[in-house]
Amino acid sequence: MTDQPFIYLDNNATTRVDPAVLDEMLPFLRESYGNPSSGYRHGKRVAEALENARERVAKLLGCEPSEILFTSCGTESTNAAIHSALALDRDRQQIITTRVEHSATLKTCEILAKRGCEVTWLGVDSTGQLDLAQLENAIRPDTALVTVMWANNETGVLFPIEKIAEITRRKGALLHTDAVQVIGKLPLRLADSGIQFLSLSGHKLHCPKGVGVLYVSRRTKFVPFLTGGGQEKGRRAGTENVASIVGLGKACELAGENMAHEQQTVRALRDRFEQGLLARIPGVQVNGDPVNRLPNTSSLAFDAIDSEAVLLLLDQHGICCSSGSACTTGSLHASHVLKAMGFSDDRARSSLRFSFGRFNTEQEVDLALEIIPQVISKLRRA
Ligand SMILES: *Cc1c(COP(=O)(O)O)cnc(C)c1O
Repeated sequence: MTDQPFIYLDNNATTRVDPAVLDEMLPFLRESYGNPSSGYRHGKRVAEALENARERVAKLLGCEPSEILFTSCGTESTNAAIHSALALDRDRQQIITTRVEHSATLKTCEILAKRGCEVTWLGVDSTGQLDLAQLENAIRPDTALVTVMWANNETGVLFPIEKIAEITRRKGALLHTDAVQVIGKLPLRLADSGIQFLSLSGHKLHCPKGVGVLYVSRRTKFVPFLTGGGQEKGRRAGTENVASIVGLGKACELAGENMAHEQQTVRALRDRFEQGLLARIPGVQVNGDPVNRLPNTSSLAFDAIDSEAVLLLLDQHGICCSSGSACTTGSLHASHVLKAMGFSDDRARSSLRFSFGRFNTEQEVDLALEIIPQVISKLRRA
């Protein structure tokens, strides 16, 4: 068993913690355990580390440190943005979102719709793209928020967030973007972007699970989601997850330093993998806009294949990938993202997502290119 390969091709579900991130975290789990709100030096040193992390995150996002709010995850960040926008003005209770959002947005909007909010759902075309004219027409005087993801976690399809921000700016609507899959993969600059809220998550960025960020533009009023103590300048109550926040600061610094390089190397791995599979296996289609797509993601439909069966067989060979998004695996529903693109249940159920990252190698790709065609032809014969 020991020489079984382990090939992790599911970096959109979560990522391995970078050893350099862990190294920066450990002192805050061992000796520097003070509460950052305490008045003595043992606490103040910790508060300084928090502010240092805030600066590092702000640098990656191209914004001010005061615009960074630490949360417990990407999901909390998104909930907080939506909650704030709705709490701001009772006469603005319409939300505009898309049918391909992560469940953090999707489920939250479904629940809000049941409670009386009006939710406008924007569809996508077969490449996974939005109709921007439709988005513009959906914005009304009572729109509380437009919440649109930047990159899709299942297909990697990128929405043109700059153009969307132009529209929301022109129409006077607030804009939140779930940028969890973009951070560390593509450069961005939030200052003067027209984006009021942005969510990110540590564990998609080589930091541990359970820490996230909500960016709130300093020109935007914010109503707290979690209330209690005065942490985060009264914007997010609860004692800070110090070690993870310190880790996130380091993860953002590493992302900034490695981005240009990783964009090339990770894209090369993804392309080698995708082209290799397309050449070796008949009846494979790429899901989603092949150009406006994250450099690390490959969503593929295999004719006459049940993706759950592939997943289990690949697992036996030490390959991790995903059938749809991790959050919906285990349920029998076909991916809502692929369905929204107009694909049949069959195509959605025959699709797999492979997502690459910092720690993948060419050797792993080549081994996967040997194993996957064997698994597919075995299942097709069965
Ligand atoms: C992973 C993910 C989230 C959720 O982040 P958590 O920190 O796990 O709550 C939200 N949106 C997208 C696009 C994601 O990929």
